[in-house]
Amino acid sequence: MKKQFGYGCEFCSGIVKGKRVDREAFKHKTGFVILEQVLIGVCDQCGSRYYTAKTLKRVHAIASGKAKPTRTQRVPVAQAV
Ligand SMILES: [Zn+2]
Repeated sequence: MKKQFGYGCEFCSGIVKGKRVDREAFKHKTGFVILEQVLIGVCDQCGSRYYTAKTLKRVHAIASGKAKPTRTQRVPVAQAV
């Protein structure tokens, strides 16, 4: 299998490690898309998150309506106090 992570972080001297997370929210120009059980890269020092091209492609497909989401969930929005 191709090694997707293990490269140096672009913000610090840490190493980006692969991590499977239950849910990750991706900001998109039309809102947010949440992927579940997604493999992301996380810097072991600063915590910066990195996403694979495959993951971003999936986010784009769902955000643009090309792929159907499993379900849609309402997100509460409020003004900061
Ligand atoms: Zn870092």
